[in-house]
Amino acid sequence: MDSTVATAVPDSARASVALPGARSEVRPLATRPGRPGEGWLRVASAGICGTDVNLYARGLAAPTVLGHHVAGTITEVAADPGARCWSGAVGERVVVEEYLSCGTCRSCATGAYRLCPDTDLWGGGRRIGTIPADEEPGLYGGNAEYLLLPPNAVLHPLPSGLSDELAAWVLPYANALDWTVRAGGVVKGETVVVLGPGYHGLAVTAAARRAGADVIVAGLGRDRARLAMAERLGALPVTADTGDELREGIRRALGSEAADVVVDTVGPTPHVIEVAVDLLGQGGRLVLTTPKNPARVPLDTTAMTRRNLTVSAVRGRRPEAIADAISSLADGTSLLQNVPSADTTLDGTGDMLGRLAAGTGPETPHVVVRPHAN
Ligand SMILES: [Zn+2]
Ligand SMILES: [Zn+2]
Repeated sequence: MDSTVATAVPDSARASVALPGARSEVRPLATRPGRPGEGWLRVASAGICGTDVNLYARGLAAPTVLGHHVAGTITEVAADPGARCWSGAVGERVVVEEYLSCGTCRSCATGAYRLCPDTDLWGGGRRIGTIPADEEPGLYGGNAEYLLLPPNAVLHPLPSGLSDELAAWVLPYANALDWTVRAGGVVKGETVVVLGPGYHGLAVTAAARRAGADVIVAGLGRDRARLAMAERLGALPVTADTGDELREGIRRALGSEAADVVVDTVGPTPHVIEVAVDLLGQGGRLVLTTPKNPARVPLDTTAMTRRNLTVSAVRGRRPEAIADAISSLADGTSLLQNVPSADTTLDGTGDMLGRLAAGTGPETPHVVVRPHAN
């Protein structure tokens, strides 16, 4: 637990700034008093997710403070509450969503602010952890001691019993609950196959277990340590290095059953979609959480209609899932406290991003930047 609560924002804050060319450096960035509607957060933890690693490795267009799974303590609330969307008082611990939405478009009006064009990562929209550092004060990401809270930030309060490490699970676990329980419709007693034991794969495993499902998690030979973590969440692991091994390994694990739900979290590999459709039984549901490369994959429409299959493609999470994630993480029912956490300091953040991009990162996918640790 990070129990130190600062009561004011210092004149400058250290930040790990990701640079074009997959490099990074730690810089002090000047803070400034909050303008109407703004605030400052003392960052306690920032989870590194696949998006950060991809942004870093692909090459950023401009220096940027990454980090968008952020938890911390509010240390300043500027004047004019009418100018901000969030509520929260100095000293309150919160988790910050990455979205910075307009508040007025059709998506925002229906509560689906995650789909607002203003915060669309692929449409040039703005998000926490993606705003260039040359836009003063530059402190718009979690990989820094302090984060400027814009007027349209989205904050959720954290209970005191939830550690900063576990708080870094809130967003990926909320995604997983939304994808598994809402989109996948998983209910008690069903059988769920999770493809990929990475950050979101383990979160989906935890979400499906909490819903009372039997879970099979499939990964590659090199994922053995992560599959062991899935086992600790109560899942049955399957190791496969080819499409055929994947199909046969999961079939063996299913026995005479078919899968009710397959959640695909494996990234660009396209052949897993064909395998997923093969494994689903009557009324089966396939949840796609990540695009493939190439993006277009053949689908067996005969199998899909005969077996009445549903395919859902998901993006982000609904706000209701956040409250659910926070309470489940706090009361221990998420079981994600059983997944080890690999912490890094600000000085180690660039190296960690490089290792994760090269596939030589820690065994656990739960990697957390702790900006105030040395
Ligand atoms: Zn993320
Ligand atoms: Zn909007």
